[in-house]
Amino acid sequence: MMTNKISIAVHGGAGTISKKLLTEEIESAYLKGLKLAVDAGHKILKEGGTALDAVEAAVVVLENNTLFNAGKGSVFTNQGLHEMDASIMEGKNLMAGAVAGVRNIKNPVVLSRKVMEETEHVFLCGLGAEELAHKCNLEFMSPDYFFDSFRHDQWIAIRDTETTQLDHSDKKFGTVGAVALDANGNIAAATSTGGMTNKRYNRIGDTPIIGAGTYANNKTCAVSCTGHGEFFIRSVVAYDVSCLMEYKGYSLKDACNEVVKNKLVKIGGEGGLIAVDTKGNLELCFNSEGMYRGYKQNDEEAVCSIY
Ligand code: ASP
Repeated sequence: MMTNKISIAVHGGAGTISKKLLTEEIESAYLKGLKLAVDAGHKILKEGGTALDAVEAAVVVLENNTLFNAGKGSVFTNQGLHEMDASIMEGKNLMAGAVAGVRNIKNPVVLSRKVMEETEHVFLCGLGAEELAHKCNLEFMSPDYFFDSFRHDQWIAIRDTETTQLDHSDKKFGTVGAVALDANGNIAAATSTGGMTNKRYNRIGDTPIIGAGTYANNKTCAVSCTGHGEFFIRSVVAYDVSCLMEYKGYSLKDACNEVVKNKLVKIGGEGGLIAVDTKGNLELCFNSEGMYRGYKQNDEEAVCSIY
């Protein structure tokens, strides 16, 4: 189906983002970071590229930005390491790839795409995933590349406790993600994260779990989530949005609202998601105080916001 419509949306995490913690300078740095990601994805769509290329490119831009908890700037585990999760999915053929607990890989989302395209598997973790990254000549970085002093301080404050914290102490979830519709009517989604500060036991959240943090199906929608991962896994959030559309005939908007503002709230799951359908409708929906987000449809101006 040729729609000629193009849409892209990105997120950089959701949570209690209190205005007093964000100076004007930091706020504009976040908005700029989001816009750069939107523009990177939009440029690909505008030139006739695929939704898959667009979401990957947008997420790479966010992974390379220290402000967000993904790639460079990922949070610290209990052992003072960075262990990252990512996933990607294509709506036209339900192909998907995901990685969990990977270290030192510059762009985990690129590796998740390699899992999808270069192996017959969907989900790889740890050393095995890193072995694939070596085989595909992906870029590895030393631990100091991922270092961010703000996140280091967050970890120092709680590393001797049992507490696990979602990114900022004010409960900001800094995961990143993108969804897109290309001119051929195909949709895709990608998500990437450093997970939770002080995480242990190789904890993995919803981000790399297809159906929980990421999902795409041309019949319904493409979804990328951010929030308290355990709740998103238990609610199978991304797939639930798709199911409400497929089986109950919900619109994209109604499906997102039902899952984020009703079902998740009932079990105490804080966060949000971005979603697109094949008509180019976009939803950027959250039940927290804010969500770093941005979007651009066709040739309209990009819109980026936080609260
Ligand atoms: N959902 C992510 C996780 O639980 C965190 C986030 O969205 O920031 O790992």
